[in-house]
Amino acid sequence: MSDLRLDATQLDRYSRHVIMDEIGPEGQQRLLESSVLVVGAGGLGSPAIQYLAAAGIGRLGIVDDDVVERSNLQRQIVHGDDDVGRPKVESAADYVGALNPDIDVEPHETRLTADNVATLVDDYDVVLDASDNFGTRYLLNDHCVLTGTPLSHGAIYRFEGQVTTFTNERGTESDTDSPCYRCLFPEAPEPGTVPDCATTGVLGVLPGTVGCIQATEVVKYVLGKGELLEGRLLMYDAMDMTFETVDVLSNPSCPVCGDEPAIESVEDVSYEGSCEISAD
Ligand SMILES: [Zn+2]
Repeated sequence: MSDLRLDATQLDRYSRHVIMDEIGPEGQQRLLESSVLVVGAGGLGSPAIQYLAAAGIGRLGIVDDDVVERSNLQRQIVHGDDDVGRPKVESAADYVGALNPDIDVEPHETRLTADNVATLVDDYDVVLDASDNFGTRYLLNDHCVLTGTPLSHGAIYRFEGQVTTFTNERGTESDTDSPCYRCLFPEAPEPGTVPDCATTGVLGVLPGTVGCIQATEVVKYVLGKGELLEGRLLMYDAMDMTFETVDVLSNPSCPVCGDEPAIESVEDVSYEGSCEISAD
């Protein structure tokens, strides 16, 4: 780690991090030197963006091509009523600027596609998937597997959420079991086989919980501290108020990270037409 360069304002702003042995000035410096791309500035992205910005992630990219609608505000708390009609990335960037001028926020007003995924993702250390559709989810998974980029996965449906972390570290003795999203679910479901694309409800606070857990995982990853949800899927049921963790194993016949992968490039796959599963 380079010599410590936290100035007085930073020592004040991040004092509750710096005071802890597990983080200290070195850990805070690490956060400030890191870069994270949040894909989606909606329900999951809102709390993730807020906490990553507050934590001092030095460079925070946000990808979204949507504008804020009033029906978003029940859960997408990075936006306010005055933002209705504005691009979500602009609204989120304004929020971040007001919360923590110490970091750089990089809005990308675009939809993630196979054509631009490398340009967008490869400029960042870690990706947090806060998207709301299978196409983006599989595209991010495949690209991150192929490039060895760590990826935080979160998804929500009505009253339930799931989170896991894919470090995508492979090929070393110590990291033989780094599953990916396709190890869990090899193919996206056919459009029409999953619940209604447009109007599925979601408990507004649910993505808050899930997005916060994703942000926690990303901060831990950057710090290199604690046990990640690597090889574990955390399932949260808000109605029963239960958290359950199930082990996720690498699948040797996984189409992207298996022994004989069919997918060697994101150009090999059509990510279009995959139905949205929920309001994000
Ligand atoms: Zn896999």
